[in-house]
Amino acid sequence: MSAASLQNYIAGTWQNKNGHKTLPVENPSTGEVISHVPLSGAKDVNEAVKAAANAFLKWSVMPIKERVQIFFRYKFLLEKHTQELAELVHKENGKIMSEAMAEIEKSIEVTEFACSMPQLTSGEILEVSRGVECRIDRYPVGVVASITPFNFPAMVPNWTIPNALVLGNTMVLKPSELVPMSSCRLAELLKEAGLPDGVFNIVHGGQETVEAICDHPGIQAVTFVGSTKVAKIVYARSTAHFKRALCLGGAKNHLIVMPDAHEDMTASNVAASMSGCAGQRCMAASAMVAVGSVDHIIKKLVDEAKKIVPGKNLGAVISKAAKERIERYITEAEQQGAKILLDGRGAKVEGKENGYYVGPTVIDHVKPEMKIAQEEVFGPVLSIMRANDVDEALKIENANPYGNAASVFTQSGGIARYVAEHASAGMIGVNIGVPVPREPFSFGGWNESKFGAGDITGKSSIEFFTKPKKTTTKWNPEARKNWMS
Ligand code: NAD
Repeated sequence: MSAASLQNYIAGTWQNKNGHKTLPVENPSTGEVISHVPLSGAKDVNEAVKAAANAFLKWSVMPIKERVQIFFRYKFLLEKHTQELAELVHKENGKIMSEAMAEIEKSIEVTEFACSMPQLTSGEILEVSRGVECRIDRYPVGVVASITPFNFPAMVPNWTIPNALVLGNTMVLKPSELVPMSSCRLAELLKEAGLPDGVFNIVHGGQETVEAICDHPGIQAVTFVGSTKVAKIVYARSTAHFKRALCLGGAKNHLIVMPDAHEDMTASNVAASMSGCAGQRCMAASAMVAVGSVDHIIKKLVDEAKKIVPGKNLGAVISKAAKERIERYITEAEQQGAKILLDGRGAKVEGKENGYYVGPTVIDHVKPEMKIAQEEVFGPVLSIMRANDVDEALKIENANPYGNAASVFTQSGGIARYVAEHASAGMIGVNIGVPVPREPFSFGGWNESKFGAGDITGKSSIEFFTKPKKTTTKWNPEARKNWMS
């Protein structure tokens, strides 16, 4: 596959049979065009679904212990190619190399988890009445589709690829058209690991491609990760076509900082959380609620944030439009009376003058009703709101429509437990700025951050990617002794 012009990956071959309009893919650090991605339509989706359905016939009946061997090899290949994959992620997404490496390391962790599926999915059996037994076996759901966002070009596809496939499903992946290259390399590694053709397919594109996926009767389940606006569209459209759907949306994560919080640990954690991946992660802290007298922590936090330098330890944001949107939020907050403690607008990196950089930005005295406090900014920007006590802080957190993550910084176990119980979010951090659950714990938020039951990774993914079959058996006539017989 040539990087200059990407193709769809269907039944194990790279192809562009239907001729497509293309979109340029940019390197956000430099603004250079690095590739072109095809914008596929319903015909391409149909071909990929046909390939996946065909492959399902053999793949789904292969014992899980055999399927998993391919993913042991895939894990090895991810390890072997970590540097190369990270360079690709860095190039098409703009995040710094250490963050890109971490993305591949997380992909390895989820693959490791998938390799434990034979142990986790061994059936259940019980004698439910005299001589009568019930057993549960798990069956794959069929062809599943995975629709992914720009901010984790390798990790988010890998949230679903290993688990869904090890469990016997086949897949059509629709990567973000902004970062389509990493997925193509993953397809090559899956093939090298021994995955049969057609088990994994890629159809590139945007809205039209996604709509064709939602509508296609041959797809049984859809996972989506992206903005809340599109998550709602995909959830509604997929379920209207009687598919299972699990759609993860955007976020506005609150960090509640108490006066007794450890100064250094809090300042460095908050600064890292708001600026990591240039603030373009659904677990980023974009709102801090400062409870009582915490000015000493805010001062330290600004000092920490000043050490974060665009082009060095801070990557680019994804596009010119994203840079402009983020800077607009900052300007509006300023106009509404918020106080800018550190201003990242107009950031430039020497030698990369056409890159899309926004410096770390800390804004104090933001009011909960301001747009910057309510909406997902998706840039390295922290809004600080003030509260008199923990209940007022929780009220601000609870009022936000999202619910991906929330954290509390304190040295009091009682306060930590109180916040963990009362915050309205699916993932809670105690003295942790980015509380991503590690495998086998599952990943997923609440409220407008997720539509559909269950979570996308960990043990929860087993429910989503399988259907249970319950078999009740009796062999001996003497068992006819009670109502169940
Ligand atoms: P996006 O919603 O713009 O795009 C996601 C996917 O949907 C892409 O593949 C895109 O091609 C497709 N798409 C875009 N517009 C569409 C439309 N109108 N109809 C159908 N499909 C459409 O999201 P993004 O900008 O790529 O990613 C950033 C967003 O993803 C942020 O909101 C972030 O919080 C969220 N995100 C959430 C999680 C989570 O776990 N909750 C994880 C990562 C990213």
